[in-house]
Amino acid sequence: MTIVDAIAEPLPRAVIDLAALRHNVAHLTRLIEPAQTMLAVKADAYGHGLLPIADAGLDAGATSFAVLEIPAGLILRSAGIDVPILAWLHGQDTDWRAGIEADIELGISAVWQLEAIAAAGADRPAVVHLKVDTGLSRNGATREDWPGLIRTALELQERGVLRVRAAWSHLADASIADDEAALAEFRDAVAEAESLGARFEVLHLAASSAGIRMPEARFDFVRFGIAAYGFSPFDDSTGAELGLIPVMRLEAPVTEVHVDGTTHVRLGIGYGDGVPTLGIAKTSVSLNGRRCPVIDVEVDGMLVDAGPHRVEVGDTAILFGPGTAGEPTAEQYADWAETIADEMVTGVSARVPRVYVD
Ligand SMILES: *Cc1c(COP(=O)(O)O)cnc(C)c1O
Repeated sequence: MTIVDAIAEPLPRAVIDLAALRHNVAHLTRLIEPAQTMLAVKADAYGHGLLPIADAGLDAGATSFAVLEIPAGLILRSAGIDVPILAWLHGQDTDWRAGIEADIELGISAVWQLEAIAAAGADRPAVVHLKVDTGLSRNGATREDWPGLIRTALELQERGVLRVRAAWSHLADASIADDEAALAEFRDAVAEAESLGARFEVLHLAASSAGIRMPEARFDFVRFGIAAYGFSPFDDSTGAELGLIPVMRLEAPVTEVHVDGTTHVRLGIGYGDGVPTLGIAKTSVSLNGRRCPVIDVEVDGMLVDAGPHRVEVGDTAILFGPGTAGEPTAEQYADWAETIADEMVTGVSARVPRVYVD
């Protein structure tokens, strides 16, 4: 194979519309004012690419970022991003000192994490957000452990090891009733912490769902994830109905065309790239402006039926996008594949180049 052949090998691409991201962030930020937007850029910005999304988010009015782990925060810092960054997923290998010295704010759920901060020997106090479990049971101190967490944090604050900046929690988004119960639990936990002497600069609770539908849960900022990428957090509405625009368009090249009564077309994208294999019988993609049913998904390719229509090698299929050119949205694709739009976009593998348009 010559070099030219290698370059010519067509690749799928995820086209990332930064203007759409900015639209969504600005739209959501207006909705929640005077609360602010902490943009959730975990999992490589839900598969959209950390740094370009962070830059566009800042331009559109996000005032802080949420990542899962300290190393992602360090990448943002190395890129010169100087707004608050919150990381809350810590393990045995966590480099606490690096996080503290880069001014990554730390979500804290357990006393062992506070002890690790004290032992880290950083050259400045850590900034911590103490997390209470309000029913989701996905980290966060239980109400039983909460007073102990508060007391230890206050002791370490006294010693100059850390500064307690926030109390926070995460909602299950299961139902409005559940979220309201969790909100009451959160207020109660904050009051308990204050009775023990804690003074919080900020409180935060809501992600996309409560941020949109529950004004009383917005507090100082909303940690917007999925809505910022253009999708609804609700089962009974679409992103479009909420005024959001999907940011990612997933495209694949036609690599083979077989005409035999009907036109069977092979696309250069498969389950190795994140295309779901579930629900194939319901799935269709857009090819030259027409919907074509999917026949099969393989590791590096998929077969679609283009019917009587003329298709050529090198044409481009759209698996999902904003839905404005007849293609499915990731929300529709996710319904076929019995998953959620979050998984559709985050699951697009690293092999698929992200191409940024504005
Ligand atoms: C992922 C995440 C968010 C964002 O959630 P969305 O539902 O995508 O808006 C907010 N907070 C925490 C703690 C998260 O893990």
